[in-house]
Amino acid sequence: MLTKHKARKRFGQNFLTDEKIIERIVATIAPKSDDSLLEIGPGQGAMTLPLLECVNKLNVIEIDRDLISILESFKKDNLIINQGDALKFDLNTLPTPIRVVGNLPYNISSPILFHLLENRAKVKDMTFMLQKEVVERISAPSGSKIYGRLSVMMQAFFEVEMIFVVPPESFEPAPKVDSAIVYLKPLMNSKVKNVKVFEKIVKAAFSQRRKTLRNCLKSLLTQEQTDVDLSLRAETLDVDEFVTLTNDYERQN
Ligand code: SAM
Repeated sequence: MLTKHKARKRFGQNFLTDEKIIERIVATIAPKSDDSLLEIGPGQGAMTLPLLECVNKLNVIEIDRDLISILESFKKDNLIINQGDALKFDLNTLPTPIRVVGNLPYNISSPILFHLLENRAKVKDMTFMLQKEVVERISAPSGSKIYGRLSVMMQAFFEVEMIFVVPPESFEPAPKVDSAIVYLKPLMNSKVKNVKVFEKIVKAAFSQRRKTLRNCLKSLLTQEQTDVDLSLRAETLDVDEFVTLTNDYERQN
């Protein structure tokens, strides 16, 4: 018999126990039998088991070796267990387009989102549980206090929709904060041509929130080189204006 798993903080382990919430998440994903589905951080299988009922094949990537034996004990032929770090997982090993799902470890949710951003060409869509505050930041409109680098980077490449909020009591152990389900779908017509350069401009623009763009972009662009008003702060610019800044920067280099 398997002994009860003790949740590990360093792996961001908060296991879903609320059946109603699990049902709602699976209904949101609405998996089809032939979907190429990847679950990040399956844990003890709270979402994995109901997902396995829907699809011909489910790939999971889990870092904690102790949880692998729990997943193996399900003895499900359509479950493909990968042990390792989701940040290093090679999406080329899966049939495309991939639908990525998961109740993400909150301590590394942003690096996972950036890893998937780099691989967005292989992704059909993503349905994730994240800290509610992170979902709010991802979907924040320009001009709001929480609009920042993560909002611009994600909105430049994905359609973003917050689906529903999940309270701490739905997990064991309960996290200290609310969580939320977010749906992300790669944009077919993102205006960004060079992700690396775009990222460089966005990062520099938000490097000192209280300073103007003129200050933050000092070593990259002057007012003569762009029509975007550099006396503004980064948080007032929408995604298209960041694209303009990037194009103007690239023209000089
Ligand atoms: N899906 C399960 C559930 O909802 O009950 C577990 C969710 S728990 C918030 C996050 C899971 O991600 C844990 O199982 C944890 O071990 C795993 N994890 C943490 N860091 C990881 C990484 N770098 N790569 C893959 N899995 C990771």
